[in-house]
Amino acid sequence: MAQKHIVIAPGDGIGQEVTAVGKKVVEKIAAKFGHEFTYDEVLIGHLSIEAMGSPLTDDALETMRNSDAVLFGAVGHPKYDNDPTAQMRPEQGLFRMRKELGLYANLRPIKLFDELLGASSIKPEVLKGADILFFRELTGDVYFGEKGRKNNGNTAYDMAEYSRYEVERIARKAFEAARTRRKKLCSADKANVMETGRLWREVVQKMSLDYPDIEVEHQYADATAMLLIKDPRRFDVIVTANLFGDILTDEASQIAGSMGMLASASIGDGTGVYEPIHGSAHDITGKGVANPIASILSAALLLDISFGMKEESEMVIKAVDNLLKAGYRTRDIADSQTSSDKILGTEAIGKLVLTTLDDL
Ligand code: NAD
Repeated sequence: MAQKHIVIAPGDGIGQEVTAVGKKVVEKIAAKFGHEFTYDEVLIGHLSIEAMGSPLTDDALETMRNSDAVLFGAVGHPKYDNDPTAQMRPEQGLFRMRKELGLYANLRPIKLFDELLGASSIKPEVLKGADILFFRELTGDVYFGEKGRKNNGNTAYDMAEYSRYEVERIARKAFEAARTRRKKLCSADKANVMETGRLWREVVQKMSLDYPDIEVEHQYADATAMLLIKDPRRFDVIVTANLFGDILTDEASQIAGSMGMLASASIGDGTGVYEPIHGSAHDITGKGVANPIASILSAALLLDISFGMKEESEMVIKAVDNLLKAGYRTRDIADSQTSSDKILGTEAIGKLVLTTLDDL
């Protein structure tokens, strides 16, 4: 029996809908295993701007900091998407949370459930068995470097910066994870054109001496993009910088068939944050059709990584697997083989996961 405190931060749009399901799954696991989990719910993003005048208040941040883990949804609202000049923006809440909680590593497992092989745009024979764990650096690169305009606003710049320390700490997490998996690490950079890429490669090469059991390869980020589609099974753990990680993980999400299936963990040395990789999806908000599986799998990652509850985490993944095997789908992962009575909405899929968990 463990006692843990979890902050639920659903955010905006479908973040609200899917995180409600993720929370129910965590509650079910607590009841099943006799754990005592307590919860706080906080605002972040557009709803926080509307209610509190800030995309993430100090209070909300402090509540997160004092918790054992955060289950997050997504932030965003159409009014900001079409207004790049808005000074206060939902994603500032996300960036603040990542920065203040010191979340420097974003982990994205890319693993396709066999039942969804047909849902990907990649051929099943290329895809079957692909199992990749991305480590995307989160606190450096063009996201946080100096940026601005010159030449009367006609030239724009974003500076990419990495310190040796920043590369080392994410690479160490990736090396350690590779040790628990198939012992292969691919480091993706642009050492051919970027000085940050040369430092990145130098650091990873040096560290590989401490990990003689890990087979390390260095790939250019563009070649990695190509290889992900051509031969995804060649990869085990991939470590890369913030911007390349952003692009490569979205590309890799297509391996898993839908954005609605992929979870991620953002970790540092304190409280970890667990979230689907998708955004607030305005196009389907309020329709009850959002796929909650990414949030459910985020809850599974939370149990595993922040609480060390492997058995509990695997049970959640098994429940998802079982319901997919039984043919149930949300609209985004349904195909021509799916019978219409098995295409369910967010809440119905959530309920099915809970009853499946009861039976496991
Ligand atoms: P998105 O991920 O919200 O949606 C992309 C497409 O995938 C949409 O067609 C959407 O309907 C579909 N989709 C996403 N999640 C789904 C799910 N669970 N089930 C079924 N279909 C799903 O990305 P976008 O449309 O580029 O952005 C929408 C908003 O989200 C923007 O305001 C953007 O800034 C924000 N955003 C936030 C985050 C985050 O909070 N981490 C990440 C990406 C985008």
